[in-house]
Amino acid sequence: VIDLSAVLDSPEIVKRNLLERKFPLNPSKIDELRTLASQLAETKKEVERLRAQRNALAAQSKGDPEAREKGKEVKRELQAVEPRVAELALEIQEIALQLPNTSHPEVPVGAEDQARIVKTLGPDLGASEPRAEPERDHLTLSSPSNLAWTDFAASAFTTGSSWPLLTNEAALLELALTNYAMSIALSHGFTPVLTPDVVRSEVSARCGFRPRDDEAQQTYFLSDGIETSALCLAGTAEIPLVGMSGSQTFLEQDLPRKHVAIGRAFRAEAGARGADSRGLYRVHQFSKVEMVVVCAEEESDALLEELRGVQEEILGGLELSLRVLDMPTQELGASAHRKYDIEAWMPGRGKWGELSSASNCTDYQSRRLGIRYRPASRKHSHPDSPSSSSSSSAHSTSSSGRKLAYAHTLNGTAAAIPRLIVALLENGAVFEADGKKVARVRLPAVLRPFWLGKGTDERIE
Ligand code: AMP
Repeated sequence: VIDLSAVLDSPEIVKRNLLERKFPLNPSKIDELRTLASQLAETKKEVERLRAQRNALAAQSKGDPEAREKGKEVKRELQAVEPRVAELALEIQEIALQLPNTSHPEVPVGAEDQARIVKTLGPDLGASEPRAEPERDHLTLSSPSNLAWTDFAASAFTTGSSWPLLTNEAALLELALTNYAMSIALSHGFTPVLTPDVVRSEVSARCGFRPRDDEAQQTYFLSDGIETSALCLAGTAEIPLVGMSGSQTFLEQDLPRKHVAIGRAFRAEAGARGADSRGLYRVHQFSKVEMVVVCAEEESDALLEELRGVQEEILGGLELSLRVLDMPTQELGASAHRKYDIEAWMPGRGKWGELSSASNCTDYQSRRLGIRYRPASRKHSHPDSPSSSSSSSAHSTSSSGRKLAYAHTLNGTAAAIPRLIVALLENGAVFEADGKKVARVRLPAVLRPFWLGKGTDERIE
């Protein structure tokens, strides 16, 4: 599941990576991993030696009772040592699965405040930090006594707090934003998918969503009433989309595979509190349009820029003030090698708020999920090779003798609905004369073709 040679050859680099990412894994695990790896190598050698001895004694044993007895003894020794190989391999795998990806050399080192602003888009907010406008707080504007776009009391009665319920134009806005984002992803060659929102916990973990984060319990596990089942609610459609390629081998000429899904994201958000968990900003369930790319390794850097370009097109059309950030090491989670976030200015919150992220996960997910490809021959082309070599089991060498490679995977938000509603409402609300009640909401023209509320949308401009 990992490139063990990188850990064995340069343990200090691996430990530094853990520290730079502030990753909740004790660096002593790297030493443990190295000890286990050398024990495994020794044990394998011992097994080979005993097997050779057993075979030699077996050949010699006809009519030689002494050799037969010695053979039995060696067999017993072998039976005692052999299972240790699998045990050690499993112990190694358990630690290896917990290691994060490496970081791209250009990624800033440090916490969130070290993010590098790559560019700004949309209306210019001027050189100074923009002014907060508390009267534009989305929770007040969307409340049942104002626009009636949300009803948190009603959903708290049915489900609990932070489970949103969208009504009136907000429900239509979700549909319009979803189809708007889908239409742009489709125009860039993404294949549409509707994914299951329940996934295997093991696949979720192998995508990098660790069941227990030190900071926050993120995953909702399903239970059959007695014990936790092997299934969980997907934190993002990235999981079923990456899972689609799991345990498969592709031809390089069939890559990249580009999929876009509409899914529900479920997040326990156990550590979240304070202003950032008010209203729609941080909720337990939200709709999201998500893009996933599976590609050859040399292509992933360029495809990350392409994904960011699609996001800039989608968000850039919404007439919001945006900034694109190259996220620092502590913001990369387990799987990302590099990540760009796009933030919008949200005047009611008086803060920039993250709307989307795009990550290059390089071979982190593909190693853990067995996503491989057969590199195209650079010297000879094979015009009549089959168009797909998908197989249910992965091998390390292809039938043509060329080494198989692990694919790279990337993911990017096309539209995370609740925060888009926050940004559009806080920026677009037009007040009545009292300065409190919202008369209408100015929405970007790009959403018009996707708006279902024709004839009943006096409050939308
Ligand atoms: P992530 O998959 O964590 O990169 O999140 C993708 C996008 O989903 C973020 O950029 C946010 O816009 C949005 N998002 C993440 N978590 C939440 C949440 N708990 N509630 C609402 N939106 C969220």
